[in-house]
Amino acid sequence: MTNSNTAAAPVGVTFQDFGLAEPIVRAVTELGYREPTPIQAQAIPVVLSGRDVMGAAQTGTGKTAGFALPIIHQLLPLASASASPARHPVRALILAPTRELADQIYQNVKEYARHTPLKVAVVFGGVDMNPQIAALRSGCEILIATPGRLLDHVQQKTTNLSQVQILVLDEADRMLDMGFLPDIQRIINLLRTPRQNLMFSATFSNEIRKLASSFLRDPQLIEVARRNALAENIEQCVFRVDSSDAKRAAVGKLIRERELHQVLVFSNTKIGAGRLARQLERDGLNAAAIHGDKSQPERLKTLEDFKQGRVDVLVATDVAARGLDIVELPAVINYDLPHSPEDYVHRIGRTGRAGASGMALSLMTRDDERALADIEKLVKAKLPVQSLEIEAARPPRAEREPREARAERGGRSRSGRRDPATSGAPARAAVPEDPLFTAPYQETPPAQRPEPSADAPEADDKPRTPRRTRPVPALLGGKRSG
Ligand code: AMP
Repeated sequence: MTNSNTAAAPVGVTFQDFGLAEPIVRAVTELGYREPTPIQAQAIPVVLSGRDVMGAAQTGTGKTAGFALPIIHQLLPLASASASPARHPVRALILAPTRELADQIYQNVKEYARHTPLKVAVVFGGVDMNPQIAALRSGCEILIATPGRLLDHVQQKTTNLSQVQILVLDEADRMLDMGFLPDIQRIINLLRTPRQNLMFSATFSNEIRKLASSFLRDPQLIEVARRNALAENIEQCVFRVDSSDAKRAAVGKLIRERELHQVLVFSNTKIGAGRLARQLERDGLNAAAIHGDKSQPERLKTLEDFKQGRVDVLVATDVAARGLDIVELPAVINYDLPHSPEDYVHRIGRTGRAGASGMALSLMTRDDERALADIEKLVKAKLPVQSLEIEAARPPRAEREPREARAERGGRSRSGRRDPATSGAPARAAVPEDPLFTAPYQETPPAQRPEPSADAPEADDKPRTPRRTRPVPALLGGKRSG
């Protein structure tokens, strides 16, 4: 990176002050945005000036509007009311690591551009290509894409990127983690120069810096304060339990005792997320899982159910949760301590924002001492640790009551409302064994999953090359170490 100046945050600016076109200001006003967030206040003028940007900001900071509004403004003079696809070439390309994030950006950008003739489309893996092909064929000035699926479209010649004048790499760190570097490089090679490049990343590893220096030109560095892991309004507590088996019961206990509604529970693995959600459901909680083995429509529906309060407990893997537009939750629970301490900061950043109080509860066993030490080192604080007693072992599976019977008796149902008479205590009627919980775990077809095992951390799109095994961006001229 050639420029490491951090832009100062202007104070008291409004969206009108940026000189954004009236249809854009009207759209954000209708969305209820009263003033720009700090990242918007910093990024909008820089992006409007045509300069490259390296932005350090997480999802939830308003960064989408930070880059999308000035992009829309810049493309407006080129907008055409014609229905001809040729009049709507792709001019801005936004790359995102996951399907959910791509879809969220799409939904937001569509809203921001709603009073303009600009067309917006999204393509991501895991779903039928045909509707995407139809959208691409009808033309779009702003295309949001996950890298793998975009390359599929390029290969099939269903999109042409030769007129892209603005490129955005969102959540660049996560894209590298997921092995997308070669795909990104391939995509960059398809684009014309010069063009404006914007890159956003929550963290700045050496690899991110190398990627930045390889394609950003004299970028302005824009930083907004990382959500503070030590914010006083977040109650952080680590509960020590005897064994991994006790953790599932411990999650249920914490949710019940603290009467948590709308809680996001993080699992390190997809298989763990699915199992935990099923177990919590069996225990009478209204839970669902979101991870890469779920179909895209399922994931979007689960997310919507959670946002609308139809699901109280959302169990998610880091990748699935990353970038989700879920912020200001009352509580997050780390069912597993994350492998990477930075994920701890991301996770608990979901709660206790904007002065609201939040709770970040974590479970650990003896095996997690190292992970805890790494987190404490990163956040530069000792986290309070206490033992959590898990009462008498739960009844054997065959004695537990299936969901349907419980709902019929008036216990907590799918609708999520709690019956005081039955909540709190596990159901104990003797019922036949439910095969859902005893049958072996069923993996979805490998075509939808880039990672080798269901227990591995997940990815959401298919990198064209195997997952990166060493931190060497050789394509960018880095030195191979292995
Ligand atoms: P993002 O970080 O871009 O995913 O945005 C997080 C959430 O903040 C989204 O729900 C946006 O609609 C919302 N948002 C973005 N900018 C503003 C703003 N200036 N005022 C209020 N809400 C905003």
